[in-house]
Amino acid sequence: MLARVREIASSFMLTELVKGLVLTGRYLFSRKITIYFPEEKTPYSPRMRGLHALRRYPHGEERCIACKLCEAVCPALAITIESEMRDDGTRRTTRYDIDLTKCIFCGFCEESCPVDSIVETSFIEYHGEARGDLLYTKPMLLAIGDKYEERIARDRAQDARYR
Ligand code: SF4
Ligand code: SF4
Repeated sequence: MLARVREIASSFMLTELVKGLVLTGRYLFSRKITIYFPEEKTPYSPRMRGLHALRRYPHGEERCIACKLCEAVCPALAITIESEMRDDGTRRTTRYDIDLTKCIFCGFCEESCPVDSIVETSFIEYHGEARGDLLYTKPMLLAIGDKYEERIARDRAQDARYR
């Protein structure tokens, strides 16, 4: 009963509203923080799920063995793979496309990959002006992997999941 009386009194005295205004006022006069992107950037997590890349081994061979696990697990059906057998008996992709207009950046593809080939890099500064710009083909994904390999390896070394 007492609690109910307190609740009604609090409603009439607008205590919740006053508390909210005090909080707002505190931030109104606190130091402002502005990040001047792209010259300044906020720290990012090594787990950031940004632009995809296909990685190679240090001797240059592509890691992907065309097992198609990433294609099967992708909930957005964003990955399309075609493959064939090489003369040496190994299997490699002849086509590996990711449609980033479909991708929901869930990370399932990289988690399913048995050879750490398809990864989501921490690189997020990219865009497309037409739909086709966001269709990433195998040569494009390998080129991203080649360009950012050092950063990808560093991010993965910092990520406890890969230790
Ligand atoms: S991040 Fe998720 S949605 Fe995007 S390609 Fe990988 S599995 Fe598909
Ligand atoms: S990227 Fe990985 S999971 Fe996908 S087909 Fe290649 S080896 Fe398999």
